[in-house]
Amino acid sequence: MAKVKQRQLGGLPPKYSFMINPYPEERVSRCPLCDRKTGQRKIPILIHVNPHHLIALNYTCRYCRDCDLLVAHKHEIEYYLTALFIEQAPDVIGNDYLAVGTVEKSVWKEGLKQNQTSTEFLPHTSDFATHYQDLQLTRAGYYQAGQKPPIAVPPPAQDWVKINSNQARIKR
Ligand SMILES: [Zn+2]
Repeated sequence: MAKVKQRQLGGLPPKYSFMINPYPEERVSRCPLCDRKTGQRKIPILIHVNPHHLIALNYTCRYCRDCDLLVAHKHEIEYYLTALFIEQAPDVIGNDYLAVGTVEKSVWKEGLKQNQTSTEFLPHTSDFATHYQDLQLTRAGYYQAGQKPPIAVPPPAQDWVKINSNQARIKR
C-alpha cells in the first residue's frame, strides 16, 4: 500500500502506522492490512492544518494490535476540526490538513488545563512510523470474470468545506 512522505516534526521516536478511512459507511471493523478484527484506541492525534495550525485532537481510532495500525474516520476528524475552527478561524475550514502523529496523553491533558500552544506539543509528539495513503475500497457489484472491480469514490466532505463556497451555502 502506498505511503505518504513527510518531514519529521515530533521530538519523540516515531510510533504507530496510520491510515485515514474516507468512507463514512465503512466502520473498519477489520484491519485493512491483515484482515484481523480491530479494536479501539483513544489517543491525542496531532493534526497540521494549512497554513500554520497545529491541533491535538483526542480521538478514538480503530486499532489493529498486530499491525500497530491506527485508522481514523475522515468525516469524524473533519467534523471535530470544523467544530474547533468555527469560532476561532472559520476561514481555515476546508484547507488541506495532515495528521502528523500522536501526542503523549499526559502532556495533552496538561495542555488543556494550561492552554499550551500546540507548538509546545511537538517535543512530546511521535510522528507516525508509517503514514499510509487513504483507505481504498473496491466498488461492490457483479463483475465479469477477469474484470477488475473499480475503486469506490469516497463522498465529498460534509463539514470541512469552505464556508464561502456555493456548496456550503446550500448546506447551511
Ligand atoms: Zn492488521
